[in-house]
Amino acid sequence: MVHAPPRFETTAPIRVNLYSDTQTKPSRAMKEAMMEAEVGDEQSGADPTTNELCDRMAALLGKEAAVFMPSGTMCNEVAILVQCRLGDEILAHPLCHILHSEGGAPAALAGVQITPLPDEGGLFTAHSVREAIRPKTRNAPPQRMVEVEQTSNLGGGRVWPVEQLDAVAEAAHEAGLVTHMDGARLMNAVVAAGVSAAEMCASYDTVWLDFTKGLGAPLGAVLAGSSDFIGEAWRWKQRIGGAMRQSGICAAACLYALDHNVDRLAEDHENARIFAREIAQIPGITVERADTNLVFFDTSGTGMTGAELAAKVRERGVLFSVMGKYRGRACTHLDVDRAGIMDAATAIREAVASV
Ligand SMILES: *Cc1c(COP(=O)(O)O)cnc(C)c1O
Repeated sequence: MVHAPPRFETTAPIRVNLYSDTQTKPSRAMKEAMMEAEVGDEQSGADPTTNELCDRMAALLGKEAAVFMPSGTMCNEVAILVQCRLGDEILAHPLCHILHSEGGAPAALAGVQITPLPDEGGLFTAHSVREAIRPKTRNAPPQRMVEVEQTSNLGGGRVWPVEQLDAVAEAAHEAGLVTHMDGARLMNAVVAAGVSAAEMCASYDTVWLDFTKGLGAPLGAVLAGSSDFIGEAWRWKQRIGGAMRQSGICAAACLYALDHNVDRLAEDHENARIFAREIAQIPGITVERADTNLVFFDTSGTGMTGAELAAKVRERGVLFSVMGKYRGRACTHLDVDRAGIMDAATAIREAVASV
């Protein structure tokens, strides 16, 4: 079995990379901020830049405390490890990242089961949560957590309205469950909805934000919650090897991203809308609603699978990702401008016309 990722070998040089918003590279200015960072030993609490980032993030998210992690996956898994015991149940959407893209970690590391609440667009309702609440018997798995993804990645970058988030959390808390928000793209939701980050996650016990998606940092995510929760999160961070040393180098990139790369997410959303409008005119392509920076589209009308179309588009120097047999995903981000978007749409139009 080969589990290492394939090395990217490019046949044609890539001009427009819409594969993911994780493909962003740190800018020169971000690297300068990293170079000048004051650093120390993070796991002794002695890295001033990391401490500053955690303080700022706790304030931004309206929580008591926060901890810096190497990745968003570690934030999700540490939150689950702290909150759940073996055999516990998590209620989440069937398209959620913890179910599809974390190597089975909720089962492998925390021994929990995830019960899907299937509603449209990666979102679900308070009603679905109430319907899923089990009687507390020895036969039923202990229900422990409701997890939401803001924005929903495989749901199409859909933004949860804050009222719906609050209603879902209320239903969870009523039944004695804790609430966790996977905020990988929380700031995209904040910018799209015009609601503050703290309001967005006010009814969630734990929440995290990724700096490596549209915010453009090379690594890092911050997990926030109560002081007690963060204390326990530190034990798991240590146990699974996430405690770091001079992490201020990376925290400086995250601070830079907070100062420079949040408001501009609106440009990515505008580019996504324009891209969606352009490719919707291509015969055979059906585009899903694009609320933020993710544009999902169906290729079945072109006679090509997503992978076949992606290969043809790649020959034209444009990358997008494939999320299902006929489902493609293009992500806009800070390394792609309006001209790149138009260029990518043209490449898809030509590829479709060529068959
Ligand atoms: C990317 C992503 C993650 C994982 O974050 P990493 O930093 O890649 O580990 C979790 N949830 C969602 C919704 C994501 O898009």
